[in-house]
Amino acid sequence: MITPGSCLRLRPSVAMVPMGAEQWQFFQGNTRRSRVFRLRADLADAVGRLNGEQTLAVVARNAGAEPTRLVALAESLHTGCLIEDAAVAQRIAQSPWRRLLNFVGDYIPSDVLESILPRLSSTSVIILGVGGVGSWVAAQLCQFGFGHLVLVDNDTVEQSNLNRSLYSLFDVGRHKVDALADHLRSIRPEMQITCIKQRLSDAGGLAQLLAGQAHFTIVVNCADMPSVDVTSAMVDAACRVSATPYVIAGGYNLHLSLVGMTVLPGTTACYHCGRLTLEEKQGDDLAGMRKLARPWRNIGNLAPLAAITASFAANEVIRVAISDSRIPPAMTNRRGEFNFLTNEMHFVSLPLRPECGCTPQ
Ligand SMILES: [Zn+2]
Repeated sequence: MITPGSCLRLRPSVAMVPMGAEQWQFFQGNTRRSRVFRLRADLADAVGRLNGEQTLAVVARNAGAEPTRLVALAESLHTGCLIEDAAVAQRIAQSPWRRLLNFVGDYIPSDVLESILPRLSSTSVIILGVGGVGSWVAAQLCQFGFGHLVLVDNDTVEQSNLNRSLYSLFDVGRHKVDALADHLRSIRPEMQITCIKQRLSDAGGLAQLLAGQAHFTIVVNCADMPSVDVTSAMVDAACRVSATPYVIAGGYNLHLSLVGMTVLPGTTACYHCGRLTLEEKQGDDLAGMRKLARPWRNIGNLAPLAAITASFAANEVIRVAISDSRIPPAMTNRRGEFNFLTNEMHFVSLPLRPECGCTPQ
């Protein structure tokens, strides 16, 4: 809450540009977003004086502005992440998480920004499948400060995995979950990691795992055996019961790398809603999906494609975990396909389908 005693300053990425006729543009360079305010000369002068060293009351007096008007304006600028609390900015500057917080601070005001770290540290993420996609998702979530990862996979590392996952020659023959846990602990030793050396093949097993989590939990499906369709249906069935958000990380759709949906059960389109729409499309999308289920599939993949899919998934998990409407998940009600040849992303809208029955009518 902004008060006359608040010490605020313009965020370093914000420029205050005069546009004439008492109009001022506040341009946020990092996000390329801008807002225009109509300010009387005394208020514009006061905002220009905000350097974090004086209270709003003092700044208002020095600029000859009405303190209550300056406080109201500051409240609006602060909500828009155009100015920040100087004490918070100073604490963040000393934090090892400053890059992360400075980034998110372009979307979330400084008074609630610091609450993100405790929220992340009290969030569990269950990653199903830690191969070419899942291993990178885990690494990125570790780097982002998540407190607890549950790694589920019964595979061992083979030399043929090394061209697209983060494992090394030293890991060959080890369980993927063990090798990955060691790698994550080398980044953040304090992180809690639970390794489950089995393939969850039915919704009951996942539901049981979900019921045992003490914290807010998000599931990421990176399992593609026997197919992304089969594992996603299983994830949906388990997550629907407990209203657990899930992210379908995707898979290999020929040379289109699939970026799957983010599902907030009961609120956004679920996996089955998406399936209903895709079945109607009867196009190349579906032909590609069907190929995924072939038992003799022998399709290729590249490290960059796996990492692109993983980065999208991690990005979604971060947004779901932060749970702030200012940075909502971007893959609800749609999925994407990254085209290797053109470097383009094509999005397919997958709206809620009332006949699916997954949301309250
Ligand atoms: Zn549905």
